[in-house]
Amino acid sequence: DGAAPLLALERFCVAYGRVEAVHEVSLNVPEGSIVTILGPNGAGKTTLLSAIMGVLPARGGATFRGAPLGRRSVEERVQDGMSLVAEKRELFVTMSVEDNLRLGGFRRRGTAAFDEALEAMWRLFPRLDERRSQLAGTLSGGERQMLATARALMSGPRLLMLDEPSLGLAPLIVKEVFRIIAELRRTGVSILLVEQNARAALEAADYAYVLENGEVVLEGPAADLRQDERVIATYLGIK
Ligand code: ATP
Repeated sequence: DGAAPLLALERFCVAYGRVEAVHEVSLNVPEGSIVTILGPNGAGKTTLLSAIMGVLPARGGATFRGAPLGRRSVEERVQDGMSLVAEKRELFVTMSVEDNLRLGGFRRRGTAAFDEALEAMWRLFPRLDERRSQLAGTLSGGERQMLATARALMSGPRLLMLDEPSLGLAPLIVKEVFRIIAELRRTGVSILLVEQNARAALEAADYAYVLENGEVVLEGPAADLRQDERVIATYLGIK
């Protein structure tokens, strides 16, 4: 259909000084979809997410909900409906699970939406519900990932960007993380997913991009990429 994508990048470039880490990336996240970015270490995946969030400056075209992102600050992007769960899950380790969530939604504090979001998080993440008053620093790796994701969701994003959500997690917890990703999409959140676990990512996603050396070298519906010989050889071969 002709609906404008939620996020659209057009020849998007990101550089560290003179070194370009992301080169002319054109990418769309349609409303209500899961889009994944695959690629080897150092391909520029984290850099790309950081620049979309406005943490790093970028050149080229970028629109979110139809409006150019331009020089909008990180704060403004959050208010517009973007949220990023970074690879380093920056939790407040000396605070409880519940207080971490409350901080994630601080812009909506005192509103009905805030209370509803908190209740929704306990439903979505029963493991966190059982640990409301536990200090974030004492959570397991999987629980930390869940808390970081739940905290990002407390701002009520339309687009949730996840950087390596399954990194370092046991297979059962990885399954749980992907269950939550699928459930989020059903609630209308669109997802841009960077993931080393290409198999799980391609199963969850609608569309995928392969990034190498900062450039998109392959893209297509996730179901097609699962059959692609190059993807199989490079990303799905072993395991
Ligand atoms: P990984 O899967 O290993 O996390 P990635 O695809 O996320 O990799 P990036 O972390 O985006 O890749 O890195 C892309 C390139 O930019 C790499 O060559 C990296 O060394 C370089 N880079 C990243 N951060 C900086 C920085 N702060 N200053 C200079 N170069 C950087």
